[in-house]
Amino acid sequence: MTPIRGWCPGALRPMESGDGWVVRLRPQGGRLTSAQAAGIAQAARQHGNGLIDLTGRANLQLRGVTPASHTPLVARLRALELIDPDIASEARRNLVVTPFADAETDRIADELQAALALCDLTLPAKFGFAVDTGPAPVLADTPADIRLERGADGLPILRADGMTRGQRLSGAAQAIAMARWFLSLGGAADGRGRMAALIARGPRPENAVHAPALPRRAPGPGRVAQGVLVAPEFGQMTADLLEAISELGPLRVTPWRMLLIEGLATVPALSGLVLSSEDPRLRLRACTGAPGCAHACAPTRNLARQLAPTIPDGAILHVSGCAKGCGWPRPADLTLTATPQGFDLIRNGRAGDAPQQSGLRPHELPGIL
Ligand code: SF4
Repeated sequence: MTPIRGWCPGALRPMESGDGWVVRLRPQGGRLTSAQAAGIAQAARQHGNGLIDLTGRANLQLRGVTPASHTPLVARLRALELIDPDIASEARRNLVVTPFADAETDRIADELQAALALCDLTLPAKFGFAVDTGPAPVLADTPADIRLERGADGLPILRADGMTRGQRLSGAAQAIAMARWFLSLGGAADGRGRMAALIARGPRPENAVHAPALPRRAPGPGRVAQGVLVAPEFGQMTADLLEAISELGPLRVTPWRMLLIEGLATVPALSGLVLSSEDPRLRLRACTGAPGCAHACAPTRNLARQLAPTIPDGAILHVSGCAKGCGWPRPADLTLTATPQGFDLIRNGRAGDAPQQSGLRPHELPGIL
């Protein structure tokens, strides 16, 4: 098994990181039973370093896996029905389902997963689908290329990312046909490419006349109609925390680095959870950093915690232990990247982008931010 470098690892094809291999799981339909969640926690403890990340595409990542532990880990996860038949199927099943899915949305997501499993499409690694047909659209800020969502009239539509309007949705085959349309027009000429870039070059899907419903802001931690949203600090859980959460009910995985515990009525006071949507730690992103990661030039999370009160409302601060930026691969309002010479400050960019200031010491940062 050779791990890939890049940003699209799976369970069958892990990614190498500073603290070992990262094994990414895509729960079917964005759901985990209590037994599956407990099994993941136990597997992370036994075959990884016991840390589990939540990602911005509603996946889970087990960290610190080794070449020797990967095979028994996959066997354990397969027994939990969390593993696809092969690497191609795993890569293609790149969809995010709204955590507020109703019965109709679950049906649409099931149909789409089944259609993706049967089709022969080779899509770019980051090409994905968003199933956002719940009571209110909440995935507008979640990256996706093909969106199944509510129209302004309440009926489901299919919208190519980059279009302001979509087609009336008739079934999952229509989403597969749109992916085929993307490929046929050279959307992934060199194996890469995104729908919005194709749309920007001029092509338009037919009959895209239906406006989407107005998107809602993602909620913070706390009660929702389906249960309780809980936010692990930095989107990362220990195996013990995930095991404790698994005992509270079945889970839905969100793209906001939170878990929805179905049917729960009160917010659980578990150590390691951010309990209030006012907590400034929700504006922080930080990778493992030193000493956990061999590549890190400095510790990250304590610094991020110290800087949290200085971050303006609505802004994201990303503290990265090196230029790889594992903790937040997207641009952030403020990014601090540790280097051997101190911290680089990057405004509106990623950890590896050109900095506006360099060589900053931790005690200087509160004044500068
Ligand atoms: S970004 Fe962080 S976790 Fe990733 S390799 Fe660098 S220091 Fe390690």
